[in-house]
Amino acid sequence: MSRERGEAYDTIVVGSGISGLSSALAATELGQRVLLLEKAGKLGGGTCLSYGGFWIGNNHMAEQEGEADDLEQVKTYIRFVAGGYSDEAKLTAYAERAPEALRFFERCGIRLHITRGLTDHYWDVGPGARSSGRHLDPDLTPIADAGAWRDKVFIPRDQPVEMTVEEVISWGGITDPDNWDWQIINERRRQGILGRGTAVVVQFVRELLSRGAEIRVDAGASRLLRTDGRIAGVELQNGGQILARKGVILTTGGYDSNHEMAEHLEGLPGWLTQFPDTLTGDHLVMAGEVGAQTRTIHNNFSIFLGFHVPKERPGDNILFRQASICEMLCPHTIVVNRDGRRFGDEAYFQDLVPRLREYDMKTRRHPNLPCFLIFDQQYADAFSFAYRPPRTPIPEWVARAGSVEELAGLLGIDGAGLAATVDRFNGFARAGVDEDFKRGAASWTLASAKPWMDKGEEEQLPNPRLGTLRVPPFYGIELHPSAFVSNGLLTDANAQVVHQRGLPIPGLYAVGNAAAHTEYGIGYQAGFSLGSAMTFGYLAARHMNESN
Ligand SMILES: Cc1cc2nc3c(=O)[nH]c(=O)nc-3n(C[C@H](O)[C@H](O)[C@H](O)COP(=O)(O)OP(=O)(O)OC[C@H]3O[C@@H](n4cnc5c(N)ncnc54)[C@H](O)[C@@H]3O)c2cc1C
Repeated sequence: MSRERGEAYDTIVVGSGISGLSSALAATELGQRVLLLEKAGKLGGGTCLSYGGFWIGNNHMAEQEGEADDLEQVKTYIRFVAGGYSDEAKLTAYAERAPEALRFFERCGIRLHITRGLTDHYWDVGPGARSSGRHLDPDLTPIADAGAWRDKVFIPRDQPVEMTVEEVISWGGITDPDNWDWQIINERRRQGILGRGTAVVVQFVRELLSRGAEIRVDAGASRLLRTDGRIAGVELQNGGQILARKGVILTTGGYDSNHEMAEHLEGLPGWLTQFPDTLTGDHLVMAGEVGAQTRTIHNNFSIFLGFHVPKERPGDNILFRQASICEMLCPHTIVVNRDGRRFGDEAYFQDLVPRLREYDMKTRRHPNLPCFLIFDQQYADAFSFAYRPPRTPIPEWVARAGSVEELAGLLGIDGAGLAATVDRFNGFARAGVDEDFKRGAASWTLASAKPWMDKGEEEQLPNPRLGTLRVPPFYGIELHPSAFVSNGLLTDANAQVVHQRGLPIPGLYAVGNAAAHTEYGIGYQAGFSLGSAMTFGYLAARHMNESN
C-alpha cells in the first residue's frame, strides 16, 4: 500500500493551467477541500505561454463602462463562429454563465480589465460581432503575490510577458516589437511584474494559497480510481493513491506534445507542438479506461502555421513561432505549397486551415502540406522574424538565395511555379488588390496593420497586407501545423464527462483543452479558450456542490 493511501479530499483537480486553477479556486471558495496536482515541476502549463486574453460577452465590466452588450447577440456570434459544430446546451452555458463566473472570480480577488482596441475577429462578417467590450486580460501582477510559490510558477523567458494586451496593441501589436516600450518592459522585469497568462496564473495561485488549498508539483496523475461506479480518486505516477469524495476534475490540457497522438488525432502531417512537453493527453488515457467518450471537432479552425525556433541554450523550452499571426500578417511574405502556388489569404490564417486538410486522390498526398513561408530582404529590413528585433540578420537556419528559382531548389519547391507566383503576387501588391485570395480585405487583419501604415509605408503599399517580393536575398522556411487541439473528452453543460453509453460518469469532470470544445465548435476567436475554461471550471465546482 502506498504512502498516500488514506489521504482524502473533497475534490482533486489534475493540471494547473487556467482550467485547473479556476476549477480549484471555485471549488475551494464553495467550501470544498481541494488538492491541485501538477505533473510538471512548475505551475501554469500552456496558460503561461498565452496572451492571457479572455472572451466574455455581456460582461458587467463593459456595462459599467457604458458598453452594455446583449446576450442574444453573444449567442448569435458564438453560434456563427462555431460553424454548426457546437452543442447548443454547452454553447448556451458558456454564453449565459461566463459573466456570472467572471463576477464570482472577481469577488475571489481575480483582477481582469477590458482590453481596449481588440475587436471580435469576425467583426466585418459575423452576425452578433462587436468592436469592443468582450475581451479581457489580467491586470499586471507581481510575481511576489505567489509568495513561497514564486519560484514554482512557469515564467517563459524567451519572450516578454511584462505587459498587458492593451499595451501591446497600443505599441503596435505583436508583429511590431520594435515599437514596444522596452524601458517599461525591462523595468517591470527587474521588479518582477508580470502580465499576460503568467499574471493570470499568479493571481489564481495567490487566491488558492490564501484560502489554504493544497497544491503539489511533480505530482502527475496516472489512473482514476473507481468505487461503486463512481470516480473516487486518482493514482499518481509514483503509485500513490488519493481519494476524492466529490470527484475529480481533469484539466490536463491537450495532447500537443504527444507527437504520435497528435498526428493520429489531427490527421495533419508535419505536426509540431507549441505547448509544454507535459501535455501528453493523459486525460484521454485515464478517462478512456473508465469508458469516457471523446469528440473530434473536424475542421477545427484553431490551427496555426509556424516553426520551432532552435534552442539557444540547453534546457530552453520549445519555442514555436506562430507565423500565422506574425510573419504572415506582414507585407513582403507569401505562403506556397510544393508546387510553388499560394493557396489562401495568408493574412487571415483561418482561410488556410481547411485547405491544409485537402487531400489529392490522384497523387495520394496533401497538396498544401508541407508548405513554406517565402519572404525577401524588404521584409527582413522592416519586420520581426522569429521574435528577433526587425533589422537583425535572418538566422543561418533559414534558407536563402539570390533568386526565387534558386531558393525553390533549396526548399524542394517547383522553381517555375514559385517564380510565376511571385510575379503574379508582385502585380497584386502594386495594384493593392489580391485577385486570387483577397488578402488584406478583412477588417480584423487590417486593424493590426496600423503600425507600419503609421511608419509611412502606406504610400508605397496601397494595401498594407501586400508587398512585393523583389529584393534579394529571398528567404524561405517550411511551416508546420500546430493547433489548440481538435479532440477531447465529451462533456455536458456541467463539465461532466460523458460515458460511451451516453450518461455522465459520476464524479468525473473535464475542463479546458482536456474537453472537446463543443461550446464553440470549429471556430477560432482569441479569448475563447481561457474564457470558456474559466466558465466551465466554475460550473464543474458548482455542480459538485449541488449534486453531492
Ligand atoms: C502563444 C499562445 C498564446 C495564446 N493566447 C491565448 C489567449 O490570449 N487567450 C486564449 O483564450 N487562449 C490563448 N492561447 C491558448 C491557451 O493558452 C490554451 O488553450 C489554454 O491555456 C489551455 O488551458 P488548460 O488549462 O486547458 O491547459 P494548460 O494551461 O496547458 O494546463 C494543463 C496542465 O496540466 C498538466 N498536466 C498534464 N498531464 C497531467 C497529469 N497527468 N497530472 C497532472 N498534471 C498534468 C500540464 O503539465 C499543464 O500544466 C494561447 C496559446 C499560445 C501558444
